[in-house]
Amino acid sequence: MKIVRTVSELQKYISEAVAKNQTIGLVPTMGALHAGHLSLVDRARRENQVVVVSVFVNPTQFNNPADLETYPRTEEADMKLLQAAGVDIAFVPTAEEVYGDTPDTKQFDLGTVAEVMEGAMRPGHFNGVAQIVSRLFLWTRPTKAYFGKKDFQQIAVIRRMASTEGFTDIDIVACPIVRENDGLALSSRNVRLTPEMRKYAPTIYATLTESLEDRRQGKTVTEVIESVTKKLNSIPGVKVEYYSIVDPDTMLPVDNWNQVEHPVGCITVYFGDVRLIDNITY
Ligand code: AMP
Repeated sequence: MKIVRTVSELQKYISEAVAKNQTIGLVPTMGALHAGHLSLVDRARRENQVVVVSVFVNPTQFNNPADLETYPRTEEADMKLLQAAGVDIAFVPTAEEVYGDTPDTKQFDLGTVAEVMEGAMRPGHFNGVAQIVSRLFLWTRPTKAYFGKKDFQQIAVIRRMASTEGFTDIDIVACPIVRENDGLALSSRNVRLTPEMRKYAPTIYATLTESLEDRRQGKTVTEVIESVTKKLNSIPGVKVEYYSIVDPDTMLPVDNWNQVEHPVGCITVYFGDVRLIDNITY
C-alpha cells in the first residue's frame, strides 16, 4: 500500500491506473477507522482494480470547533487496517494540501436535500462535505465511490453534488450500516462515550426497531416520532436533537406512512456531549 500525502503524487498514480484502463474505487473517510469503514473498503476491493481510501479530518465540514478538536485521530492504526484490507493507495493529506493557504469559499447548490435535518442543525456542514468530496472526485476520478447509509442524508447530498458538478459518470454506492452486537451503529465518536453512556447507547437502535412494530400496530407518523423522542429523552443525560421520518429521495418529512414506499426515520441524539446519528427504514 502506498501512503500518499500530496495531490500531485495521488494524481500520478491515478494517471497510471487510467492509462491501464483500471477501475478505481474511492472510499472517503475521516479516519479512526472501524468495521463500518472497513465494510466499505472490502466492497471497494471486491469491485475495483485499484482502491483508494482517503483519511482526512475535513475542517470545513465541522461547524463546531470543539467537535473538530476532539475528533479522534489514529493514523498509525488506520494505516495498518488499510494495509491489511488490501488497499492500494491511502491518501492522507494535510488541510494545507487540500485547500492551500486560502479558505475554500465555494458555495454548492445542494438543493432542498441539504436544507433539513443535518443541514438545519449544522449550518455549513454539507457545503464542507461537498467541498472535500468534489475535490476527491476530481483528483481520484473514481469509477465507483462508497458511502455508508449511517450518514443517510449525506448520500443524497453527494448524489446532488455529483449531478450539479458534472460527476455523472461516478457510480455512488450506498452501503449498509454496520452495528455492534448490541445494535449501536459503529462510529468514530463512540470512543468518546462515557462507560455509562456507552451502556445506554444501544437504546437508540432498540427504540427505532420497536417503532417498526408501533407502526404495524397502527400508530401515526406523528405518534411514532413522539414516542421515539420520549423514550430516548427519558434516559438521564440523553437529548434527542431531532427525529424525522422522511422521503428517502427528497429528505422531506412525510405526513403519513403511505406517502412513499419506504420512509426512513433519521435520528440525531446527544449521549452526554457525544452526538450520535442513526436511521431506520420503515
Ligand atoms: P466518516 O469517517 O465518519 O466520515 O465515515 C466515512 C464513511 O464511512 C462514510 O461514508 C460513513 O457513512 C461510513 N460509515 C461510518 N460508520 C459506518 C457504519 N457504522 N456502517 C457503515 N458505514 C459507515
